[in-house]
Amino acid sequence: MAFRTPEQYLESIRDGRKVYLDGDLVEDVTTDARTRDAAQSAADEFTRYHDPKIRDIFVMTDPDTGQEVDRFMAMPRSTEDLKARARAIDYAQETGLGKLGFLSDAMLAMRWVAPELGKTNPDYETAIETQFKRMRDNNLLVCIAMSDTKGDRSKHPGEQDDPDLYVRKVDETPDGIVLRGMKAHITAAHLVNEMVVMPTKRMRDDEPEYSVCALVSPDMEGVKILARYDKPKNQYDYPLSYEGGAAESFVWLDDVFVPRDRIFQNGENHLSGPIAYALGLWQRFSAMCYKRHTIRMLAGSASLMAKYNGIEKAGHIQDKLFEIAMLADSLEAFIDAAAETASHRDGVAVPNESITNIGKYMFASRYHELVKHVQDISGGILVTAPWERDYLNEDLHGAFTKYLSGGDKSSAEQRLRLLNFIRDLTADEYGGKQMVTTLHAEGSLAAQKMMTLRSYDFLSAEDMVKTIAGIED
Ligand SMILES: Cc1cc2nc3c(=O)[nH]c(=O)nc-3n(C[C@H](O)[C@H](O)[C@H](O)COP(=O)(O)OP(=O)(O)OC[C@H]3O[C@@H](n4cnc5c(N)ncnc54)[C@H](O)[C@@H]3O)c2cc1C
Repeated sequence: MAFRTPEQYLESIRDGRKVYLDGDLVEDVTTDARTRDAAQSAADEFTRYHDPKIRDIFVMTDPDTGQEVDRFMAMPRSTEDLKARARAIDYAQETGLGKLGFLSDAMLAMRWVAPELGKTNPDYETAIETQFKRMRDNNLLVCIAMSDTKGDRSKHPGEQDDPDLYVRKVDETPDGIVLRGMKAHITAAHLVNEMVVMPTKRMRDDEPEYSVCALVSPDMEGVKILARYDKPKNQYDYPLSYEGGAAESFVWLDDVFVPRDRIFQNGENHLSGPIAYALGLWQRFSAMCYKRHTIRMLAGSASLMAKYNGIEKAGHIQDKLFEIAMLADSLEAFIDAAAETASHRDGVAVPNESITNIGKYMFASRYHELVKHVQDISGGILVTAPWERDYLNEDLHGAFTKYLSGGDKSSAEQRLRLLNFIRDLTADEYGGKQMVTTLHAEGSLAAQKMMTLRSYDFLSAEDMVKTIAGIED
């Protein structure tokens, strides 16, 4: 396959897509002053295939074709493949190179579940196989468009006052179907080449129009992407998030015609469960991998700040560092264990389901606690430290240098730079977003609980108890 260059990628998204931002329609996301940096940074991700120093992390030989392939678009065949994938995600998160690449979870999940969909309608399996190969061989970027806007959460899609609150099929012709509705919080929608639109959950049997899964391109007639951008800031005050850039989007499918060869499900409710399950599993494995980087940032911040403030040996600080270290090491163990105990289906190595769900839950449910520890170690100055302009003011700089040091443990400059980093990571716009993201992205906590309850073998545990207790049925 041919790996694209950054320029070829940029050319591919100059396709007349309708992207709205700050109340305006953006003419061209690659040139508009508000979006071009994010488009360029997505383009820069394509350098990873062409840089000999890091190429091997992202490129492998595909056992299917014998050709070189983007690792994120190859089905893992073994524990080693899963671990290599985990390493690539980690590296992508740390460097930004390949961050959008592993959104391919959407197509991996579809390809994994394709044989099952094919039992209901062989056309679905063929469509998935054809589209997967096209995307793999043309090195296309894809995103996951699953979350519906959902209206009243206590009601099923068909019971809502407005039938469009979940994406649904509103028309069908011999050539294809027409989709209407809005998908919410879709990462990188305006920067990808394709979106896998899929049901957010299992629907009811009497609501077939909501059980639809299809591949939609951002440039199709009727697709409107309402992008949300984080604003750029200055680097000193916001060392993590200063570049701003693309975040999530609402994707409005305003009666979008989708041709047959892009349809993966069309009305069969019993397929929504397997699709949602497959995506959840692949995505949560990726989530554990990309969270490694975040937790290392929390660990490094906490340890450094404790030293800068001269409190690293205090008992309650040691307790907090222990909590952070324990979660960080547990996450590593969960990633390894999910790969080591992978199951094999249709030649694909599938991360262990319960370990993956528990690992993701463990991280997501404890994250806020770790943030609390880092903030506690840092002190109130985390949100009162002078901004760069005040710190550099010539009347004040000397005073800040004198009074804001950590004594002989750190200079004011060191301490303030670290405080800015921690504020950015935990207590400001980016940090707040990380907290919400950790809770909700890849499904809320309840979703992981549900999967864990489903996969744990309670029945054999009950049998054991009955045997020991001498209970007969
Ligand atoms: C940064 C970010 C990136 C994301 N990226 C993507 C993406 O690329 N693609 C994508 O498809 N999605 C994406 N999501 C969406 C994510 O998957 C959802 O946020 C998540 O599934 C929760 O759904 P929700 O936000 O609609 O919250 P809600 O579903 O409203 O959940 C809020 C609370 O209500 C509870 N709840 C909801 N329904 C019920 C019910 N019927 N009964 C009882 N309790 C209920 C939930 O458990 C939770 O506690 C992203 C989210 C974030 C924050």
